[in-house]
Amino acid sequence: MRCPYCQHTDTKVTDSRTTDEGNSIRRRRECISCGRRFTTYEVVEEVPLMVAKKNGRRELFDRGKLLNGLLRSCDKRTVPMSIMEQVVNDVEREIRNEVSQEVTTDRIGELVLQQLKDIDQVAYVRFASVYRKFDNIDSFMEELKSLKKLDNKRKKEKSESKEVKED
Ligand SMILES: [Zn+2]
Repeated sequence: MRCPYCQHTDTKVTDSRTTDEGNSIRRRRECISCGRRFTTYEVVEEVPLMVAKKNGRRELFDRGKLLNGLLRSCDKRTVPMSIMEQVVNDVEREIRNEVSQEVTTDRIGELVLQQLKDIDQVAYVRFASVYRKFDNIDSFMEELKSLKKLDNKRKKEKSESKEVKED
């Protein structure tokens, strides 16, 4: 790092801290040659993540949009905002960990649905109806049936584990 005063290239870091938003690091540096101090910022460069939509168009991944979709699905439900934000965080982490820098809306939808299934079933069905665009009542009923099956299985597992505990 070159000193802005004397152009000397050797500096030492005297203080280093993360900014409030947590996405950059602020460093206080001192020039070895002239002793003057200056500040530098290091910012993590985010790799743009593209979303391929059903209509063939591409757009930048937008957390806000995803959160809005969740908010709509969870309307009048008792899902806390913090949980919805957690879902968005988890989904974003998951897709950013994938090798490809492009993700389909289907993939995002499936990741959200995997989580919503355990959080709120009404929100799940609402979200699924937007993402999967059920063509007809049959495909919609199929989804409900599989959800019901899963629900029964969970209830059964729950009551079984209860019985075990009570023994
Ligand atoms: Zn200097």
